[in-house]
Amino acid sequence: MFRRKSIITVLAASMILSSGVVYAQTNGAPNAQSDTAFDNKVIKKINVDNMYNTIKYLSAVPREAGTEGEVRGVEYIESQFKSLGLETKRIPFPIYDYKTNRELAKVDGVDLNGHAFSGSGSENVTAELVNVGKALAGTVPNDVAGKIALVERGDITFVEKVKNVVAKGAVGVLMYNNSANGNNFGQANGEVPAVAITRAQGLNLVERLKNGSVEATLDVEIQTIEKTSYVVEAKLKPNKNKDTGQIVTIGAHHDSVHLGPGANDDASGVSAVLELARIFVNTPIDTEVRFLTFGSEERGMVGSSFYVSQLPQSDIDRMVAHFQMDMIGGAEAGEDHPLGGLIMYTIDGKKNLVTDLGASAGSRMYDVPLPYGQLGRSDHQPFHDVGIPSALFIHSPVEPQYHQPTDTIEHISKEKLQQAASIVGASAYQIVRPDTPALDRAHVAPATVNYDFENRPVD
Ligand SMILES: [Zn+2]
Repeated sequence: MFRRKSIITVLAASMILSSGVVYAQTNGAPNAQSDTAFDNKVIKKINVDNMYNTIKYLSAVPREAGTEGEVRGVEYIESQFKSLGLETKRIPFPIYDYKTNRELAKVDGVDLNGHAFSGSGSENVTAELVNVGKALAGTVPNDVAGKIALVERGDITFVEKVKNVVAKGAVGVLMYNNSANGNNFGQANGEVPAVAITRAQGLNLVERLKNGSVEATLDVEIQTIEKTSYVVEAKLKPNKNKDTGQIVTIGAHHDSVHLGPGANDDASGVSAVLELARIFVNTPIDTEVRFLTFGSEERGMVGSSFYVSQLPQSDIDRMVAHFQMDMIGGAEAGEDHPLGGLIMYTIDGKKNLVTDLGASAGSRMYDVPLPYGQLGRSDHQPFHDVGIPSALFIHSPVEPQYHQPTDTIEHISKEKLQQAASIVGASAYQIVRPDTPALDRAHVAPATVNYDFENRPVD
């Protein structure tokens, strides 16, 4: 799961939804007994030791995107899919690292020991400083043209600030912090050099500018290093004579954070994707299933975004559900919430086909109608963005080992792996089993249970 820096959205109570409507999933009346029989066709075949072994193999080496470790993981995943006879593809995409070779900020000849923004423009400029406050849209003065903008951090993104001053002709950005928290904070791409300084330095310059002009020099050289990361895609085609023409996707991310073993984050999700692939291969279906593992999730869902961006619209139109599993085995996650804290997060905080099916499956198998909540930060985001009903299955709140070197196999619970894989497997099977009708993607899903919104922070 991706860690972003901003604060998690707190939801208004008015967004809490509850559907009392009961629809028939099968042709005819809802029948919990027969659904359970169908569940068993999938969940009885889950072998949690297979999942555990996958996690053990993957977590033996960190899998940061763009490294040999990622390639090692990708090769393993690919070989597993291929051994099942699936049409398997490794889809490469570029990722970029930035190396700072020079990051000089001088004012009247004095070095401020500033930090260049990652992705700053590379250039050497000397010009007068102009105080532009927070560089909010519509507030940047015209006289910044040809000069260096002194900008205060806060309220809008770095990218927007840089854009706003460059639009007025600024040739550089000197940004000071909005807290006493040092000078290493800037992340923005841009064609002009951008350097971060401390709040004290910034306020000092604001004062000096009141008494006359100040000259600054910014000299930045950022080297862009292109690397390759991957998405692994495995297609399972339905029976030729019974094909709804629809597609269900089941995904997880295979990359870890830098030097992280990533046993739970997210070798656990990958292990479930592989195990469900193994089971579905031998189960009659009427809908294509795509098993996906994404690289570069930890860089901000780069792999899943790339994957969705390269799909033909005709594929997107046929996709009816995306199940994302990220961190589904953390023994110490979930506090004392039911089912080890398993929850389904959607991007918009609303129910959809995926959450309806997940809640029903949880209710049938474990007497727990899985709750849902609102959260992005994983690969369900790009699928949601193109209109595909999507949810993230995760134990929340996350365990103390999240993004730590201690995210190792010792902290994985087999019981949690089994539960999450069972619920996702049974939910997906509801769609792809041959006796259920094709779904209208635009429709609210068939729901057989009531389940509640929870405003549960993930960390
Ligand atoms: Zn993560």
